[in-house]
Amino acid sequence: MSHLSNDYVERYSRHLLLKEIGGPGQKKLAAARIALVGAGGLGAPALLYLAAAGIGFIRVIDPDRVSLSNLQRQVIYRTADIGAEKAQISAEAARALNPTLMIEAHASALDDSNAADLLGDCDLVLDGSDTFATRHVVNAAAHRLGKILVSGAVGRWDGQIATFASGRALPRGEERSPCYQCLVPEIPEEAEFCARDGVVGALTGVIGTLMALEAIKLVTGAGESLIGRVMFLNALSMETHIARLRPDPECPVCLTPD
Ligand SMILES: [Zn+2]
Repeated sequence: MSHLSNDYVERYSRHLLLKEIGGPGQKKLAAARIALVGAGGLGAPALLYLAAAGIGFIRVIDPDRVSLSNLQRQVIYRTADIGAEKAQISAEAARALNPTLMIEAHASALDDSNAADLLGDCDLVLDGSDTFATRHVVNAAAHRLGKILVSGAVGRWDGQIATFASGRALPRGEERSPCYQCLVPEIPEEAEFCARDGVVGALTGVIGTLMALEAIKLVTGAGESLIGRVMFLNALSMETHIARLRPDPECPVCLTPD
């Protein structure tokens, strides 16, 4: 380790001590490129933990500006940030936490026209966006580009996280992964939106942090990822359960022959 600086060893010492990460895993984190869609309740805590973990490159994509009602849960922002672009402010906060991080801020919405540009050069996509329309665009692009997608969602007292690898080339014999649209085939009529239905702030931190944890595991290869599974958390009962997901044989995204 003599070639590594003292600062590097000290900053990442708690990772370097873990047999599942260690020096090789920390190098993988430094080489990783992650696209983060949404810098709100889910994306903001995910971003802080990814920056702290030593991820090499992060692209933050969020068209919104900080509003007063965001501050109940989006703890990366300060009261003085109201009115400023979330992509810009969250990128500055992440850079202040870890100056070795290369970070790009995109204050525009992800759509079909820019998805390939914004996601194509990243290894992993984290989606914490707040509309089903964006989620379906992100999913279709991740599938097309062969990127693994970590998707989190919250509403009221419920949270969930799942990982999809539908576009990834499969080793022989491995079961095909479903995609996000297999789980959410169409935009639910009774879709919950936190602006209308509310959400407990700390729960967004829990699910956003789980998204960062999932990314760290996927990058380093530690343990078992949630690929093909979805984890639910009800914060009122503190009960979690994990369900296995199957590809939807009618899914227009992941079963369309190319
Ligand atoms: Zn699908």
